[in-house]
Amino acid sequence: MLPFDGWLHGRLNEVKAAGLYRELRTMETAPQPEMMVDGQKQIVFSSNNYLGLANDKRVIAAALNTLNQYGVGSSGSRLTTGNSDWHQELEKRIADFKQKEAALLFSSGYLANIGVLSSLPGKGDVILSDQYNHASIIDGCRLSRAETLIYQHVDMEDLEKKLIDTACYQRRFIVTDGVFSMDGTIAPLDRISELANRYDAYVIVDDAHATGVVGKNGRGTSEYFGVLPDIVIGTLSKAVGTEGGFAAGSHVFIKFLINHARTFIFQTAIPPASCAASYTALGIIEQEGEKRQHLYYNIKKLKTGLCSLGYQVKGENTAIIPVIIGDDRTAVTFSKKLQEKGIYAPAIRPPTVPAGESRIRLTVTADHDVKEITYLLKVFDFIGRELRIIK
Ligand code: PMP
Repeated sequence: MLPFDGWLHGRLNEVKAAGLYRELRTMETAPQPEMMVDGQKQIVFSSNNYLGLANDKRVIAAALNTLNQYGVGSSGSRLTTGNSDWHQELEKRIADFKQKEAALLFSSGYLANIGVLSSLPGKGDVILSDQYNHASIIDGCRLSRAETLIYQHVDMEDLEKKLIDTACYQRRFIVTDGVFSMDGTIAPLDRISELANRYDAYVIVDDAHATGVVGKNGRGTSEYFGVLPDIVIGTLSKAVGTEGGFAAGSHVFIKFLINHARTFIFQTAIPPASCAASYTALGIIEQEGEKRQHLYYNIKKLKTGLCSLGYQVKGENTAIIPVIIGDDRTAVTFSKKLQEKGIYAPAIRPPTVPAGESRIRLTVTADHDVKEITYLLKVFDFIGRELRIIK
């Protein structure tokens, strides 16, 4: 063993002692409710494939056709040799879907957040960021030369107080997840927009978990509240079922990003085949509202069932359904017992969530059927009683 490895073992042992050691699981089948996980058949209640599009035959066909024409890789960054007609067509489609003038693709939602937040707010500016924003927003704020102030989760009084206290900054940017990934709460974009108007601030929303899910046509939190934030960021890796991230806003904002966002400039473009898949998937989201209706039916069935068993369930009407267990070790035991019964759903513990609020984070998709949801409820009933979480 090298001295370097010894040092790393020490660091990993610290993580193990805190009960926070992470390991990879291997999925051996296509993303669908029933999968082989580490050689075991499991019903997966933790996927982001909310509308089942990752495995939709039409989306796969679009990717295959384009793969045959364009090859597997894009071969360069967008500013060199990587910019295909597919990238541009997809950007137009995203802009249209998000009702913005223009959009720009990034390799992931993570890199979209970092690209925007590290380039747009600058020295002399301040970013007001929700306490529970996603890691990519936090990292984007860290890379920005602007100052960052954290406001309490969806607490509009705290946000207003911070807006009042920051009057001397040059520009103010409010940044929030649209749907919070660990809580399933929806950011009150209507009230955020009102405050932004009153105090002359800009609004940036990361609609990663809302795109395709929230709003009458799945356009996201802006559609849900009937407001239009200055900038919408998102990912294609959740309800859209593919990969890549985007930022949408005005034409000049997109030109600004092309010239300033380092995660755009210095990244190899996603493959054209992936753009074609996203293009088709967005079309399905627009045309097949029944997928979203079925997702909402499943959300309701699962939530109602868990509540009537006596569980404390967090969140709003979204596909993210956190079930509070409390103690972190019990949450891990719960998740292991679920796996033994053929259900795959992770335990989420501090520091990702506050101490005493460890949880099983369930996500449900349009592809789950009644039998799978009923089975999950039966297993939650059994384990909950066994671990004395419910009576
Ligand atoms: N924002 C939020 C709120 C997310 O939950 C995620 C994914 N976990 C991302 C951004 C990052 O998106 P991507 O997976 O495309 O990098």
